[in-house]
Amino acid sequence: MELRVLGAHNMESKHTRMESHLIDGVLALDAGSITRALSFDEQLGIRAIILSHRHFDHVRDLPAIGLALRNTGVTVDVYAIPDTIEFVAAKLFDGSLFPDPLNFPSPENPTLRLHPVQFYQEFKVLDYTATAVPVPHSVPAAGFQIASGDVSLFYTGDTGRGLCEAWKHVTPTTLLAEVTFGNENEAWALEVGHLTPNLLEEALVSFNEERGYLPKVIVAHMSPPWEVQVKGELRRLARKLGVDLQISRADMRVTLQPDRLRLKTVTWSDGTPPQPLSSPSRGRYLRRCRRPRPLRRHPPADRRRMGKRLPGGRMPAP
Ligand SMILES: [Zn+2]
Ligand SMILES: [Zn+2]
Repeated sequence: MELRVLGAHNMESKHTRMESHLIDGVLALDAGSITRALSFDEQLGIRAIILSHRHFDHVRDLPAIGLALRNTGVTVDVYAIPDTIEFVAAKLFDGSLFPDPLNFPSPENPTLRLHPVQFYQEFKVLDYTATAVPVPHSVPAAGFQIASGDVSLFYTGDTGRGLCEAWKHVTPTTLLAEVTFGNENEAWALEVGHLTPNLLEEALVSFNEERGYLPKVIVAHMSPPWEVQVKGELRRLARKLGVDLQISRADMRVTLQPDRLRLKTVTWSDGTPPQPLSSPSRGRYLRRCRRPRPLRRHPPADRRRMGKRLPGGRMPAP
C-alpha cells in the first residue's frame, strides 16, 4: 500500500494544501486538495473517496473533481458517515454552487455516488476493507481503518482528546494522525477538538496500553502558524517515545509496511518508575481513559545515540 500525501495542512496558501491523501492512486482520504494536487490524468485514476467529516478543509474539492470527471463516464464512490453525506449533498451539491455530479449524466450512473456508512461496520472499498470509528471533534467525525492484506492504516481525520475508545476497534500498522496546534495551545485544541504533540503522546500511550505495540506514525493537518513549533515538539516526542514518527508534507510518498516488530520500539517496563505524561490536563484525560502503564526507558545503546544529539550532552527525557 502506497500513501501519497496530497495536502498536509488545515489552511491553504501558495505553500500549503488542505488535507487529502491518496492510497495507491485510486482511493482518496478526504478531499481538501484532490484536484489542486493532482494532474487530470491522476484525477481520472481516483475510483473512491472516503470523507472523515464535513468540515470545508476536508471536502473542498468535491465539486471540482465532479466537474473534472463529468464527461469521462467514470463513477467515483464517496463513503462517509451519514452526517457528512447529508451536509455534502445539501451544501455542496444542491445545484446552486456548481453542476450537480450526483445526477449527471444520469441518477443511475452519476459522476459521484454517495454511500453512507455506519460506525464499526466493515465495508469494502475497491480492494480494501474499511471500518469507520467515531473520533471526538467539534462535529460528528470518523476515523477510518483501511486494510489490505497484512498492511493497515488508521486515518484519524480531525480528532481531539479521547482516541482511547477508538483503539479498541482498530489495529493499524500505520497511524495517520492529525496534530494541529503546538503544546502551548492545548486549551484551544481541547475546546475545538484537535491534537497537540502532548495530546498525541497521550493517544500513543493509550494505544500502546490497549494494543501492546506502537504503529508507525505519520502526522498531518498542521496549522501553518504553529508549524515550526509543532515540528520541533514532534521531533522531541519521537525521541522520547522511540516511535517511528514522520511529519508529512505535500507530495510525500510512503510505502506502508506490515512489519509490526520493526515498529515495536516502545515496550513496557518491569519495575521502572512511571513516566509522567507531560500534559497539564493529564488528570482529565485519565478520567476518560484507562490509566496508561509507564513507558520503558530506551535501551542504553539508544540513549547514548540520542544523547549526542542534544545540546550540552543532556540526556532526553525517558
Ligand atoms: Zn480539518
Ligand atoms: Zn474538522
